[in-house]
Amino acid sequence: MGNHCKIITEGIKMTKCPFCENEMKEKMIEFRKGVYVKGEICPSCGEEWISEKEFDKIPVVKLERRKIFKHGGSLAIRIPRSYVKHIKLKPGKEVVLGIEGKKITVEKV
Ligand SMILES: [Zn+2]
Repeated sequence: MGNHCKIITEGIKMTKCPFCENEMKEKMIEFRKGVYVKGEICPSCGEEWISEKEFDKIPVVKLERRKIFKHGGSLAIRIPRSYVKHIKLKPGKEVVLGIEGKKITVEKV
């Protein structure tokens, strides 16, 4: 699982294992505990490959459910501690808010 996964650049389709030239098989690879991505595995040497696009879809931290609450006249959400740690947010620092479809993005500046 995980660390022995190779990342391939989008556009290159692995059909043959570069090590033993066997036909690759599509497989859901457990990238991290409970996190599965579509990838390919060599049935003979066990090499696992996932595409860059799939890799980008892997959440870096666990997805968390949060309730929106009222704070004064505004709506607020608590940011999970793991997220704060991951992108090193600090009180008083500025972030840029954006909208991507149904998502609200928060970007550190
Ligand atoms: Zn192989």
